[in-house]
Amino acid sequence: MVVLGIETTCDETAAAVVERSDAGAGRILSNVVLSQVDEHAAFGGVVPEIAARAHVARLDQIIGKAMLDAGTSFDSLDAVAAAAGPGLIGGLIVGLTTAKAIALVCEKPLVAVNHLEAHALTARLTDGIAFPYCLFLASGGHTQIVAVRGVGDYVRLGGTLDDAIGEAFDKIAKLMGLPYPGGPQVEKEAQSGDPNRFALPRPMLGKLNADFSLSGLKTALRLEAEKIAPISEQDVRDLCASFQQAVIDVVADRLRSGLKIFRAEHGAPTALVTAGGVAANEQVRKVLQRIAFEAGTTLVAPPPELCTDNGAMIAWAGAERLAHGLRDMLDTPPHPRWPLSEVSGPAVSAATAEAGAAEAGAAAAAAGDAGAADAGAAAAGDAGAANAGAGDAAGDSPAPTPPSG
Ligand code: ADP
Ligand code: MG
Repeated sequence: MVVLGIETTCDETAAAVVERSDAGAGRILSNVVLSQVDEHAAFGGVVPEIAARAHVARLDQIIGKAMLDAGTSFDSLDAVAAAAGPGLIGGLIVGLTTAKAIALVCEKPLVAVNHLEAHALTARLTDGIAFPYCLFLASGGHTQIVAVRGVGDYVRLGGTLDDAIGEAFDKIAKLMGLPYPGGPQVEKEAQSGDPNRFALPRPMLGKLNADFSLSGLKTALRLEAEKIAPISEQDVRDLCASFQQAVIDVVADRLRSGLKIFRAEHGAPTALVTAGGVAANEQVRKVLQRIAFEAGTTLVAPPPELCTDNGAMIAWAGAERLAHGLRDMLDTPPHPRWPLSEVSGPAVSAATAEAGAAEAGAAAAAAGDAGAADAGAAAAGDAGAANAGAGDAAGDSPAPTPPSG
């Protein structure tokens, strides 16, 4: 199965072609990522409108390059997958509409992929690990601990109540006048700083749940910086080191708690899997390794280029879903907010396929889709997506999922 994947949820314009064997082994045929960091740097963060325009300007070329690198023609694709959320609405519309156009013209199935699901399944592409495993996702837009039990079967064990970890790194970097994105800068400064100089809080430490809270820590750091202003270069290093140490202590404690909950509710995990840009931090990685070891499991950390946003993970998630007969209608909407717990899986598909078959038949005919069986599967995928919207509106999810980036 060969799938084209498109990622435009935040500030990376990305496309990739990935192959999945019948046995479930993955192979990346191409993976093209264009970061928009330079376009947003002057603003100290991602500007949604600039991001959307940049996606429009470059996506065609990026897809063209991905197809060329893979040596694949649109005809020989088995499906087109695009990240349909969560993320910034402008970018989502660009990526999803492009995928729909290709699917329509080339008469290929469309798979609308949840960006978080793609992060969650990446370790199966890189390391072929079996379910169930524990995911720690920490990026600029997301901080979550998730039980990954199967394709479309995710249980959120904990997450941030306010800022994402990467976002907190970015914000405190900005406060200290360091360039964007702040995470790598803070790590660099911290290397020659004193992690014990400032007594910063460790929010949520010891709580039985697996939730995070970063905003108090961020404020505490600001107050410390204000107390000693104007800050010297060594002050910046010490502030960075103290902040990073506090984050690491919190991550260790929250993951210990998350893995305990995992074991109690889902049995032993096959691995602790990490995803998101924050996992590029060496000190964070070290602590993840220790926590995995303590919990009697191993750490699986995909290479950094597959931990941060990319098209290969979208293509792979598309292939994994398609292997279960999950595909989506051409009128599938983008979902700026789309909690993982609301992603449809094969079980939901079977339950709703019958109910949705008649409606899907009509809609599929309108979309130029001929197969009745296909229409059923498409309806199921769509029903899941509709549920996601309802869940959001009803405040079903344990905590709001902030948009990516
Ligand atoms: P998103 O695009 O959703 O923000 P990415 O997976 O692209 O997520 O990750 C980017 C985030 O990761 C940024 O917030 C960045 O500061 C953070 N990050 C990257 N490298 C490091 C690092 N070495 N230490 C801490 N945070 C980092
Ligand atoms: Mg990014």
